[in-house]
Amino acid sequence: MDRRSFLASAAALAAPPAPAVMTVRGLAAVSTLGLMLPHEHLFSMFGEEPAEHAQYDSDALLAAVVPYLKSVQKLGCATIVDATAAYFGRAPRILRTVSEMTGLHLVTNTGYYGAANDRYVPKFAFDESADQLAARWIREAREGIGASGIRPGFIKLGVDAGPLSAIDRKLIVAGARAHRATGLVIAVHTGDNAAAVEQQLAILKAEGVSTASWIWVHANQCKDDAAVLAAASQGAWISLDGLDPTTLERHLALCLSLRQQGKLSQVLLSHDGNSFRAGGKRPMRPYTELFTGLLPRLRSASFSQDEIRMLTVENPGRAFAVRGLTFVNQGVP
Ligand SMILES: [Zn+2]
Repeated sequence: MDRRSFLASAAALAAPPAPAVMTVRGLAAVSTLGLMLPHEHLFSMFGEEPAEHAQYDSDALLAAVVPYLKSVQKLGCATIVDATAAYFGRAPRILRTVSEMTGLHLVTNTGYYGAANDRYVPKFAFDESADQLAARWIREAREGIGASGIRPGFIKLGVDAGPLSAIDRKLIVAGARAHRATGLVIAVHTGDNAAAVEQQLAILKAEGVSTASWIWVHANQCKDDAAVLAAASQGAWISLDGLDPTTLERHLALCLSLRQQGKLSQVLLSHDGNSFRAGGKRPMRPYTELFTGLLPRLRSASFSQDEIRMLTVENPGRAFAVRGLTFVNQGVP
């Protein structure tokens, strides 16, 4: 190797890798992800009995979900983050099949959902330590989920109403530690529980985790605008999901107030939709209102093309980009 090519390859080694998100088909550069919906459910078994391995009628699932996704793609969507957690329907192999059939980038998760009165938290989680739980999630991030080889792209957790319970606190501590080892962002179903937001941010700080690695899921349900702003001021991501025709005005009002406060770069927009609820037993919840309702309303409220691109492309790309080199250096599966 001559000196020039030696220097070039040394520079390539030293250069930080381009920001990337872990999808069900491996790492994808953020620059290739396009418009991203950061909180949807392609399918779930929510409301059904908890199960480590969800049992779907996969023919019926694909027949319902794939054509629907193609219609969402036609509206401009290129990437979807699937928030269906383990024990209420996570099925990474089906997600990979759907990704191959549609060409959409799809992202799955690790972690346990501590909302719904802990119904979907596995029994062993009550006995194990935060470090033991974190070790399970870190293993999934490094080696893949089960034998699938498919890696999660974020840590999905949930907490119940009221002050954090012992199990919910343990999940947050475990999430913080798993984040430190993997660089995966932590998205926590917190809803209108603004007090639990403050408790979680305090845990992150105590664990040495940046609050910019934490997403307040369902922040749109919080009626206290000052609490939303306070979380944004501490660096948290504000996920305004649950978008549908009935919540359109609330989403618009929150976008306007967060823009006025200079926090638009921390806002995520999504529907919490579901294209195969309870294994197809319940009516689907669409995820198209962003395209047909909110974006036109934002444009008429003088949001610029750059601001809309920030909300729908740049923010979710930054939120879900894997932090640090540790994880990225594990290589692409
Ligand atoms: Zn959800």
